[in-house]
Amino acid sequence: MRDPWQDDSPHDECGVFAIYAPQMDVARLTFFALFALQHRGQESAGIAVTDGSRLIVHKDMGLVSQVFQEQTLQGLPGQLAIGHVRYSTTGSNEMRNAQPFARVRNGSFIALAHNGNLVNTDQLRTDLLRNGHVFESTSDTEVIAALLVEHPSRDLHEAIRDIILKMRGAFSAVLLTNDEVIGFRDPYGIRPLVLGQLGDRFCLASESSGLDIIGARMVREIEPGEICWIDSDGYHIEQVARRERESLCVFEFIYFARPDSVMKGHTLYGARSRMGEELAAESPVDADLVIPVPDTGNSAAIGYSARSGITYGEALIKNRYIGRTFIDPDDQVRKLGIRMKFNPLASAIKGKKLVVVDDSIVRGNTTRALVRVLFEAGAAEVHLRVSSPPIVFPCFYGIDMADQDEFIAFGKSVDEISHELGATSVAYLSLEGLLRAAHGDEGEDCFCTACFSGDYPCEVPENLRLSKFRYE
Ligand code: SF4
Repeated sequence: MRDPWQDDSPHDECGVFAIYAPQMDVARLTFFALFALQHRGQESAGIAVTDGSRLIVHKDMGLVSQVFQEQTLQGLPGQLAIGHVRYSTTGSNEMRNAQPFARVRNGSFIALAHNGNLVNTDQLRTDLLRNGHVFESTSDTEVIAALLVEHPSRDLHEAIRDIILKMRGAFSAVLLTNDEVIGFRDPYGIRPLVLGQLGDRFCLASESSGLDIIGARMVREIEPGEICWIDSDGYHIEQVARRERESLCVFEFIYFARPDSVMKGHTLYGARSRMGEELAAESPVDADLVIPVPDTGNSAAIGYSARSGITYGEALIKNRYIGRTFIDPDDQVRKLGIRMKFNPLASAIKGKKLVVVDDSIVRGNTTRALVRVLFEAGAAEVHLRVSSPPIVFPCFYGIDMADQDEFIAFGKSVDEISHELGATSVAYLSLEGLLRAAHGDEGEDCFCTACFSGDYPCEVPENLRLSKFRYE
């Protein structure tokens, strides 16, 4: 089930967690970590746990709190665990694609969970099928598991070293065996993965907020092309693939990751606030009030207000309980309109010239409805300010946005976009401004920005490009 009101936003991908902690309740710790990573995927959740002799996997469709109850957690004893929350970017939204995947390799079990998208899945899958491998799902995570299962080496670490070189695209994965948890990250570092410490034990998570919730401290980020394994001796890190041009998805900074997460040494709240400041410097406007599109526009709106000196206020009240409530979003919710998600505070809006700050615009459907609602509530002017550049290229690395011809910015000038949205004016943050805000003055350029620039860090095969590029 898709959230009807997220259809106009880039969709999150997945979140992963892994922990090695004998004498601790690893399933419960994993549950809490997944809870903190819930924003990365709401379609399914799963935990694999082992006491060293047997593997138990519990996974189902739904939110973490729906999949795991007290009784479920009590039935997951063990010393090591991995967990996953999923949004389907490849493979359909169904139970057989829920993770972690459990497999038998050389007579021992492994369980695998993965965040990202491979761009050479078709080729890898075809080769595996030719060699007689049978697939149960349509997920590319199963392809990674299959590569490990079919690898001739008895040494799992050697197999991982080898398959990292075969896989192309984005992958931050965690793996469970009977006596260790392992994490590995693609050579471009497109999806995040961090190492944390809890007492004298260690864990891995997609974001540092997944560590904070269990009281773990961040040790460091797993670097592109590294493998990290955690066992009874602590953690070990090895650079197994040559580092390519580092290309962390810049949308982690703009929108996906939680504002309280830390990436590349920056809190994302701070980075988003700086994006708002840059936006105010680049695209000032004479207005009475700066308001965010909650919640993802909040930090940038605060930055815009600080730099411009225009008062910040909340004028769109978000219903936080919409989204996963309705069985048939297409039919029921859409009829009720944007007010199901945002109710305008007419007393704060009436007669005002508004600056409305949002993190991004994909198709523009929700934004158009939002502008209309603000004018209906009495706004004198609605100036949209977007804290990222226009999205004009599709993502092949695990972010579900739209095909190229569906983007509102594709082939249009900013004035045309403004006219189409019914706004008084529209301005986007420049790519230079975005990067300045993201990595600070001294930081190095370490981001994928392909959906704005078309500069794909990891080559995308022609057949895949053609599937999403409308005009080529
Ligand atoms: S193309 Fe865009 S959404 Fe995809 S990884 Fe690159 S920056 Fe992120």
